[in-house]
Amino acid sequence: MAETQSPRIAILPSPGMGHLIPLVELAKRLVNNHNLSVTFIVPTADGPPPAAVKSVLDSLPSPAVDYVFLPPVSLSDVPPDAKIETIISITVARSLPSLRSTLSSASRRFSALVVDLFGTDAFDAAVEFGAAPYIFFPSTAMALSLFLHLPKLDESVTSPYSDLEEPVQIPGCIPIRGSDLLDPVQDRSNDAYKWLLHHSKRYRLAEGVMVNSFPELEPGPIKYLREKIQRPPVYPVGPLVNMGEIQTRSDSCLDWLDRQPHGSVLFVSFGSGGTLSYNQVTELATGLEASGQRFLWVVRSPDERTANASFFTVRSESDPFPFLPEGFLDRTRDRGLVVSSWAPQARVLSHGSTGGFLTHCGWNSTLESVVNGVPLIVWPLYAEQKMNAVMLAEDIKVALRPRKGEDGLIGREEIAGVVRRLMEGEEGKKARYRMKELKEAAARVVMTAPEGCSSKALSDVVQKWRQDQKCNYN
Ligand code: UDP
Repeated sequence: MAETQSPRIAILPSPGMGHLIPLVELAKRLVNNHNLSVTFIVPTADGPPPAAVKSVLDSLPSPAVDYVFLPPVSLSDVPPDAKIETIISITVARSLPSLRSTLSSASRRFSALVVDLFGTDAFDAAVEFGAAPYIFFPSTAMALSLFLHLPKLDESVTSPYSDLEEPVQIPGCIPIRGSDLLDPVQDRSNDAYKWLLHHSKRYRLAEGVMVNSFPELEPGPIKYLREKIQRPPVYPVGPLVNMGEIQTRSDSCLDWLDRQPHGSVLFVSFGSGGTLSYNQVTELATGLEASGQRFLWVVRSPDERTANASFFTVRSESDPFPFLPEGFLDRTRDRGLVVSSWAPQARVLSHGSTGGFLTHCGWNSTLESVVNGVPLIVWPLYAEQKMNAVMLAEDIKVALRPRKGEDGLIGREEIAGVVRRLMEGEEGKKARYRMKELKEAAARVVMTAPEGCSSKALSDVVQKWRQDQKCNYN
């Protein structure tokens, strides 16, 4: 009988593994805990979707979760130096005709369409076909507060934000230097900033925003968003993280970790797409060697132009090993493992031998570290990562932050020092203790509702979808 059917939800992930992974976790909760069905509608550009994306979607429980790739749009006219926010936004905007035809030919109406950071252009199509527009914000509550505040900030500040003498006060958050704000706001004349502003104005059109965070991790911004923002209502549903079930590559590094002492290994990874310059790779390798600590490093071939060269493809274009300093692999063989492009990160972070994480501060990586109680060295590269680094090192104090030298590089001595301080020093001990507290809080908030506040927040959203489903049948 139609009345008893559970709501069916559409999810539109914007390109990038870091965007897909938490949405996959959301889908699993909706299916396993709430008995909903979910369809991923995936925009693609310039050719077939990356194999890694397909294999993640294939791993989901069918038929409760299914997926459709929208036909690839052409980006041939987009300038080669366009930023990822522009590329993502254009991909979504150009996919709207095929999104409409997918929604109109669906066998059953979707109760809601959930988009992520840069998918708000899909809202009109959602409403046309009776689906409530929702956002899943895969980053911090602090970044969400900035998104909602940006239209006002844009009106009140005329200079580049990095020229501001006083730090920017994002509502509910620790003050942030203008130069530490999101990457796309740094150049206000760039299209990426215009897209960001465009989306931030459209956030108010959403029926609700789910944010991948929880009160103990971000007390200030979550209190502000819950109590002071009426439209859209904000639901902290995090941490929604991959706990290691998604495995897209072999796990030789897990075998290696099995042979290392408890808590002794520093995991070094710059997310799904982060890249360093050649000189920076040399400094990092030399610093890791000089630290004397054990390490597992996911290395990509250097890129001089951008810090996120592999964002859409995940893999290095070429073999990264020849770019490492001569003899490095031999000299560190007994205490270091270097893997190319990709490691089963969630499983590495939950492994008992892992005792620290040098990270680019992507929010999924950060949350994966939090749920496993692993303290951090923060090395932000792009997107909102500098804001995350400030929050982690200066606000909640679960991370150490190496400083850049005058040449713009983080030097080998600085790296060796910060690695030793995290793995063996007093500061590392304090960060580890604080992470342990957050790990416990993270486990509490996802306990079954009503105990767990994040589970309760997600139940509240599902409840709204169920009511809407009933209204549409009465
Ligand atoms: N990831 C992984 N293996 C890697 C690199 C990344 O499994 O070698 C996963 C990681 O566990 C996380 C996601 O890719 O879930 C990266 O997301 P994040 O938000 O940290 O950074 P982004 O890649 O979006 O910059």
